[in-house]
Amino acid sequence: MIIGAGPAGLFAGLELSERSKLKILIIDMGKTVSQRKCPMEKTGICIGCDPCNVMSGVGGAGGLSDGTLNIRPDIGGDLYRFLNEREAWELVKYVDGIYVAHGAPDKLYQATPLEEEELSRKAASAGIEFVQIPQRHIGSDHTPEVIASIEKTLKDRGVKFLLKTQVRNIIKNGVELENGKKIKAKYIIAAPGRAGASWIVEQAKKLGIDMRHGPIDVGVRVEVPGIVMDPVCRINRDPKFHIITKTYDDFVRTFCVNHRGFVVKEVYRGYVGVNGHSLRDKESENTNFAFLTRIELTEPVENTTDYGESIARTATTLGGGEPLIQRLGDLRRGRRSTWKRIKSGIVKPTFLGATPGDIAMVMPHRVVTNILEGLDGLDKVIPGVASDSTLLYAPEIKFYAMQVEVGKNMETSIPNLFVAGDGVGVSRGLIIASATGVMAARGILEKEGIIES
Ligand SMILES: Cc1cc2nc3c(=O)[nH]c(=O)nc-3n(C[C@H](O)[C@H](O)[C@H](O)COP(=O)(O)OP(=O)(O)OC[C@H]3O[C@@H](n4cnc5c(N)ncnc54)[C@H](O)[C@@H]3O)c2cc1C
Repeated sequence: MIIGAGPAGLFAGLELSERSKLKILIIDMGKTVSQRKCPMEKTGICIGCDPCNVMSGVGGAGGLSDGTLNIRPDIGGDLYRFLNEREAWELVKYVDGIYVAHGAPDKLYQATPLEEEELSRKAASAGIEFVQIPQRHIGSDHTPEVIASIEKTLKDRGVKFLLKTQVRNIIKNGVELENGKKIKAKYIIAAPGRAGASWIVEQAKKLGIDMRHGPIDVGVRVEVPGIVMDPVCRINRDPKFHIITKTYDDFVRTFCVNHRGFVVKEVYRGYVGVNGHSLRDKESENTNFAFLTRIELTEPVENTTDYGESIARTATTLGGGEPLIQRLGDLRRGRRSTWKRIKSGIVKPTFLGATPGDIAMVMPHRVVTNILEGLDGLDKVIPGVASDSTLLYAPEIKFYAMQVEVGKNMETSIPNLFVAGDGVGVSRGLIIASATGVMAARGILEKEGIIES
């Protein structure tokens, strides 16, 4: 049995159904991919569907996502925690091959050695590291087709789906559903993603499985004219820059670059956040990316989730229930933005639902300093990125689920209970989530004696 039909659950299902005759049931609280419609696409207003169509259903958070495949074992998670270099690369390529077989485009965005050298040199001279990643871009408008193709293959192989059904509890030899019904299973793979991250923590506590807090990434979504980012996005569709900031010596990074894309709102229980997406068939004038500070807490408080949520709630309060938007120039000068000031700038916002305000009233001073210093540094690599009219949306917070202690088979300390994906802290992106699903499936195949360890 697999809990969660996100990339981790689907790839676990593909691996098991291809290599064994085990009966497989995938349970998800969301809908089938063709029924997953976010009302925001038409109205621009989030009505807080429960479960959220962006986060839940066949394809999981990946189902309606931008579908940028980062083809590297240490981006979107870290497979080197579990596998050696050769094994990790083999698995990443294997997973990528499956995405392509189900309709992901052949085109690979990859810098030539010369381009990589030039950009790396330019970045290094500003004290910044350029991280080269081969990428494939499916696009939010095509990701559902790829997911639908995987769903069809699974069904053709006899895999059953139980949708619109929440698992309430993991119990001995099975699960209990929200309606009280119990289903038995010899093996369970729990792949609940971000939507089920707090649920799995509750389950782990009940079952006595150790988990530890991971770091969080806190910051803003930056929006600049597309033309500013064109030169680097031509080299890498989602270029990643890693920066160590001057004042605080903090790790800051660009993340999830949406070239010619759109900024979107995300709604969580009790607060809102921002994200971005880009479409293969429709472009905006702008490019957006997350600009995030990594925060880890040690004693006496380790709960990074509480800390991140308290920042997000403050931002939501100040934005009157909406994310905040501010021009970089206003943040620099210590004043709030207004629509009048924003409209006088050259960057026309792609998300108009935000409230003009002052991000310095919301984010810790440390994060604001990192944003200002980091963008000034990045401006030396990408001229124009730190102009006064650059737009910042807040909060953008990446919560990484608490991490379950597992080895390369993804089996927990409870025999026959396996985990995979973002919800249990072993991944943070499509490729690695899918890869950990394959690893969990192989863990089961090993126990069944179908493959060797
Ligand atoms: C807007 C957005 C854009 C993104 N863009 C990219 C991108 O371009 N590239 C990239 O690499 N990554 C991207 N990501 C991240 C990527 O989508 C995730 O890393 C990936 O989906 C994680 O896969 P998963 O299977 O672990 O979890 P998920 O995809 O979150 O799936 C988990 C599933 O489990 C179900 N579930 C949870 N609890 C229960 C329960 N108790 N009972 C029943 N069902 C349950 C949920 O409904 C959900 O469908 C994006 C994420 C978002 C939100």
